[in-house]
Amino acid sequence: MPVRAVTPDPVADPGAAPVSTLPGVGPALAQTLAKLGLERVQDLWFHLPLRYEDRTRVTSIGDLRPGDRAQVTGIIESVEHGYRGRVQLKVAIRDASDTLLVLRFFHFHRAQVEQLKRGSRLLCYGEARWVANSLEMVHPQYQRIDVDAAPALEDRLSPIYPTTEGLGPKRLAGVIEKSLAVLPQDDRLELIPAELCAKYGLGSLRDALMFVHRPPPDAVVADLIGGRHPSQQRLAFEELLTQHLSLKRMRAAVRSRRSPVLAARGDLHKRLLKNLPFKLTGAQARVEAEVAADLAKPKPMLRLVQGDVGSGKTVVAALAALAAVQAGYQVALMAPTELLAEQHLRLFRLWLEPLGVAVEWLAGKVQGTARKKALQRVAEGASIVIGTHALMQEGVAFARLGLVIVDEQHRFGVHQRLALRDKGLEGDQVPHQLVLTATPIPRTLAMSAYADLDVSSIDELPPGRTPVQTIAISNARRYDVIERIHAACGEGRQVYWVCTLIEESEQLRAQAAEVAHAELSAALEGFRVGIIHGRMKPKEKQAVMDAFKAGELAVLVATTVIEVGVDVPNASLMVIENSERLGLAQLHQLRGRVGRGAIASNCVLLYQPPLGQLARERLQVMRDTNDGFRIAEKDLELRGPGEVLGTRQTGQLSFRIADLARDGHLLPAVQAIGERLLKEHPQQAERLIERWVGGAARYAHA
Ligand code: ADP
Ligand code: MG
Repeated sequence: MPVRAVTPDPVADPGAAPVSTLPGVGPALAQTLAKLGLERVQDLWFHLPLRYEDRTRVTSIGDLRPGDRAQVTGIIESVEHGYRGRVQLKVAIRDASDTLLVLRFFHFHRAQVEQLKRGSRLLCYGEARWVANSLEMVHPQYQRIDVDAAPALEDRLSPIYPTTEGLGPKRLAGVIEKSLAVLPQDDRLELIPAELCAKYGLGSLRDALMFVHRPPPDAVVADLIGGRHPSQQRLAFEELLTQHLSLKRMRAAVRSRRSPVLAARGDLHKRLLKNLPFKLTGAQARVEAEVAADLAKPKPMLRLVQGDVGSGKTVVAALAALAAVQAGYQVALMAPTELLAEQHLRLFRLWLEPLGVAVEWLAGKVQGTARKKALQRVAEGASIVIGTHALMQEGVAFARLGLVIVDEQHRFGVHQRLALRDKGLEGDQVPHQLVLTATPIPRTLAMSAYADLDVSSIDELPPGRTPVQTIAISNARRYDVIERIHAACGEGRQVYWVCTLIEESEQLRAQAAEVAHAELSAALEGFRVGIIHGRMKPKEKQAVMDAFKAGELAVLVATTVIEVGVDVPNASLMVIENSERLGLAQLHQLRGRVGRGAIASNCVLLYQPPLGQLARERLQVMRDTNDGFRIAEKDLELRGPGEVLGTRQTGQLSFRIADLARDGHLLPAVQAIGERLLKEHPQQAERLIERWVGGAARYAHA
């Protein structure tokens, strides 16, 4: 069901005015803002900071620890401009603590080189890393300052907003600042009835917004960074409430519709089981039966199949697909990346083509006539179509879509998942939906984000897997690890080297990978080292993956783009850099890329000492167990109060401020208010959804 348009009344609701009504926002800027889903003034009010930077003070370089984001100052001691595998600029600065910090640039202008002279003084902000025995910042923000004067400091934390290419952080912050000038008083802003606000102790929405956009100088930095300030909690509450309302509405809408009856276990089902080189595990058989029972009903199935990495979700999906095909319906399978979609394609073709079931491939690289023909076959009723969600959404028409399968659900917004549902059935019919995920769903998530799904678990791995042996090694012994890689390559093993710079910018992530790539290429003479990261074109990525799969590359340096679904059974060693910075869920996902064949596999968690208490415990858990469910439990336990900086998990759910691990305690009140709103104030519920989800839904399609 599409989000119902709320008629904008700019007088009653100044937030409904387009952004172009703000001073200084012309058509070009408005267009760029629209890419972020920022079309109305209120979209700006609710475009919340991703994090804050502390430029209120200068940190002594001597006190910098790897991983710190900080502002430092120092005198330029040397400037190196040259090639090291690629053009780069290396500037060393030193401060009063007599410690050296290297600033490294891969992209720069001639003017910058000319400006950065020995003896000049710089004020920089960036993230410190430990590289080859010295501290460095890659692409820090910097400005030249007077050698003697005290640096000008900000008097409050600087909000950093999610942004897009072509829109600098300062410019975006400026536009948001302008929107705040027209932020009305609460009586025209608040959508939750006063009586409910009072009952549940919800403070002023206006104050909360002003606070998160412009934290006052005396704000408690730790609260703010941890997202626990009452103003942030106030907004998190409203966001969770909106998510809840929107899911309830969608669930009701879907449950009221009908789906085709797909009686499972026909001839195709039997033949696939007979052809498979293995027997289903007990867990697979149980979940398959649950799915089959859903499909045989005239009501839409909405089922999440959750199973650890390697638990064999694909075959369960294939059996469901055959039920649809047998009944004369089509199946669409979508995955978040082309790489992952291709893994499915491979298994589906392997299993289904011998049964005479054709599998269509709709990838970005299928273009021109080939794409046209594929689309035509889909429109005429081709049985199974596999692709990424983008491809599925753009102009693909199905003749009789009976089942939608979505892999790795946590990568999609709930709304994206639902978008496919409206494709190609007669009358009020909708396809059944099967969602696959390797991420165990904690209870808090099950209560909110997945509230519209029934859940099945494949809680058993196929027999004969050799568990991955995991060790943690200090980065001080990096060279031993590289030796070990050398030896492993010599034995014909293949290796992943994962770079884990946590940055909102794909560019910085790519740079970190390039640095590691240069280092490994130099150290591993005689072996080919490849690189893959999110800045590469899909074609380039695919070529690299193909080369790795074919064994032409011994080592693959990657960013966390390989986190999901990549399947190269011969890869049996994984090194994860800066592993202390990753959460358990992500480490587990990454490690799941090895241990996929019969070869004994190893995972090396490289860490940067000294380890904090939490990081130490996380690495310990990783060494102790390969069990995704145990890891998920431990994860929630460790991520209780106390976790700091950048805790908002990007990619898990597209929340702007809420964090289910942190804010789960708000859910009972969210549900109570949600119920009252839907019953007594349905228009207010609509407006809340439009405020928070309307923009996000547009963003998802940008
Ligand atoms: P995931 O749940 O991570 O998506 P896959 O479905 O990709 O896992 O399965 C991983 C591998 O295990 C595949 O190569 C698949 O053929 C194999 N597999 C699946 N089920 C079984 C089973 N019951 N016994 C043996 N191997 C299996
Ligand atoms: Mg899978």
